[in-house]
Parts: sequence; structure tokens; C-alpha cells
Amino acid sequence: MAMPSREFLWDIFRSVDRDGSGAISANELQQALSNGSWTPFNPETVRLMIGMFDRNNTGQIDFNNFGALWKYVTDWQNCFRSFDRDNSGNIDQAELKQALVTFGYRLSDNIVNMLVRKFDRNGTGTILFDDFIQCSVVLSTLTNSFRQYDTDQDGVITIHYEQFLMMVFSAKM
Ligand code: MG
Ligand code: MG
Ligand code: MG
Repeated sequence: MAMPSREFLWDIFRSVDRDGSGAISANELQQALSNGSWTPFNPETVRLMIGMFDRNNTGQIDFNNFGALWKYVTDWQNCFRSFDRDNSGNIDQAELKQALVTFGYRLSDNIVNMLVRKFDRNGTGTILFDDFIQCSVVLSTLTNSFRQYDTDQDGVITIHYEQFLMMVFSAKM
């Protein structure tokens, strides 16, 4: 997708930066993002996104980094919409399974079911937009750290307890 104009982004940036500080805080981002369901955006997903695009480690996003964040959110929105086949505004287990296959994962129904239960914050057996991003990012982060140990790529690793802790706690998620 082509990047929108600087003016377009600046208009969005100014409306998201409610206190006019010149930077978007986690709170401001959370208020701007919408699940389309009147539920507050998952703070974990907000934290994840700030961490990803906060190049200066201030815990906020300035205008220079805003374009990348905007593109990231928009790409995820399009992705979410394309997998929400029934336009219900959420992703059910079958839709998640299809999404994961498209992302290149081969996971059993048991695992997909576990993911739905883990990331379903509303107890409806489905996943909203923010939780879908979190689920995908966490899965990809854990998969990448597993792969670093699985040098022969057979899906099996043997690791020491402390390596395991290192793998889980050093993962950026
Ligand atoms: Mg601000
Ligand atoms: Mg749906
Ligand atoms: Mg192996």
C-alpha cells in the first residue's frame, strides 16, 4: 500500500495527539484506536505497538515515527477485515485457523482453540481486532525464538531450563 501524504498523516497525528504535546502517548493511542465494539483497546497491544515504533525510547511516538505506526495499524485492519469472512467484527476459531494457515503456520485445532481461549478477552469464543494483533505478534515472536534453537528445523528442540527462561523473557512481546 502506498504511503499517504504528509498532510494526511499530520491531520491524523494532530487529532490523536489530544494534549498537543507533539507526541502520542500510550493513552492517546489507546483512545484513538477502535475495536468497533465500544470496548477499550487492549493496553498490551498498545504497549506492543509503542515499543515497536518508538525509535527514541521515550515511550511515545513523535510525528517522524507516526507514518510507520499508521501503516502498521492500517495493514492490520485490512488483514483483520479480510479474515473476518462473515463480517461479524471478530474472528472466530475457523477464521483464525484460516488466517494462521495464510501466515504460514501449520497448527493443530487444539492449538488454534487454545489461542482463541487465551486471547478472547470478552469470553465470547472470538477474537477482536486488538487481540488478533497481539495473538499474531506473540505467536510470531515465540515461533522466531524457537526457530533460533531449532537449527535442523525439525520442529523439535532440546534446551536447558535457563535457555528456556531466556527464550521466553527476552522475547519482545
Ligand atoms: Mg500527546
Ligand atoms: Mg467473524
Ligand atoms: Mg530440531
